[in-house]
Amino acid sequence: MALYKTRAIVIKSMNLSESDRLVTFMTESHGKVKCVAKGARKIKNQFWGALEPMSLINLIYFGKEHQSLFRLNNSDIIESFQTIRDDFGKLYTGIYFLDLINAMILEGHREPKVFSLLYQALAALDQQTELEALRRLFEIRLLALSGYKPQLEHCIFCRKGPENGLIPFSFAHNGILCKSCSNRARVDIQFSTGTRNYIKKLLDVEIKTCERLKFPKAQMDEIGKVTHRLVLSHLGRELKSYPFIKNMAEL
Ligand SMILES: [Zn+2]
Repeated sequence: MALYKTRAIVIKSMNLSESDRLVTFMTESHGKVKCVAKGARKIKNQFWGALEPMSLINLIYFGKEHQSLFRLNNSDIIESFQTIRDDFGKLYTGIYFLDLINAMILEGHREPKVFSLLYQALAALDQQTELEALRRLFEIRLLALSGYKPQLEHCIFCRKGPENGLIPFSFAHNGILCKSCSNRARVDIQFSTGTRNYIKKLLDVEIKTCERLKFPKAQMDEIGKVTHRLVLSHLGRELKSYPFIKNMAEL
């Protein structure tokens, strides 16, 4: 048996029995981890708030290495992100981030950069009022960290740089094409040079300043079509929380 101590963000929490909960964490040191919290439903005070999705905690758990289910020993809350919980737009955006992590990240791999992305994105969500750029940033960065960074620098076939006018893009090949190669793969979408440049910015802007990127609405929609379609083509399905965000954005 080993004892593990790490910072973690609660991804998902569900009842397992009358007294126990099953909690999924994105940890800073050990990747995605699932723990049984014995008695968590009875001893409310001990774990109060510290097992709610989105909370940043100091987590102690134990179990055998390489097993898939661990036992929770202790969880102390560091940050509850209350501002996110008090605002529906922020709340659903936060839940969408957690759903994406849960769907895209496998257990048993160290993923400190994914933890850092999630932590910084939640901190930005807590502070910022313009959420659209942050949502797109989170999608494209998580894809990039999972090995699905789109090729935006040059044609995926002949490596020629992008030309003037609309740029053809293939989701199956995850990259842009030049005009002469555009008949070698299905062109799923074409976007402007501006959209390409904004997506590139989202890939390396400091997360806490992403609110300052001012996107025209039409451009933002185009960026969303690219980044969200990439998420869909990678996952093969829509996440339950996404339609809520779409509906709220259109209100
Ligand atoms: Zn080409």
